[in-house]
Amino acid sequence: MAVRRRNAASTGVSARTAKRRAKRLELAQSKRSTSARRETQPETMAQARAYTRKKKRYRRLGLCDVCASQAAWGHQCGFNKIHDPCERCLPIVAQFPDAGPRGSKWRKCLVKVEYMTRAEAREAGLIA
Ligand SMILES: [Zn+2]
Repeated sequence: MAVRRRNAASTGVSARTAKRRAKRLELAQSKRSTSARRETQPETMAQARAYTRKKKRYRRLGLCDVCASQAAWGHQCGFNKIHDPCERCLPIVAQFPDAGPRGSKWRKCLVKVEYMTRAEAREAGLIA
């Protein structure tokens, strides 16, 4: 039984069609690789460390795991690109000292709470 090669551009078509298909395939592949390069730069070690540190800050401020991750991500890529805080975290977020982007439910905390002890953070009025 003959095996049909589906990926071969020249199967049963004229030379002109085969040439055009090959060209189109090449174009699509190059487009895919360039857009992937532009949009998803790998995270650097410094970015990863900053993310972990900031997530810790928001956990300490009382946010849930998901919202703390969102906030840390917000510092990195922009608070208007992340999901809104959940129902439980919304009132906590509203107490944060620094304004978020206009029209967003997010506020942020630029104080480095992750380096403070609980007592210091409480004294600064950042946690209850
Ligand atoms: Zn939450």
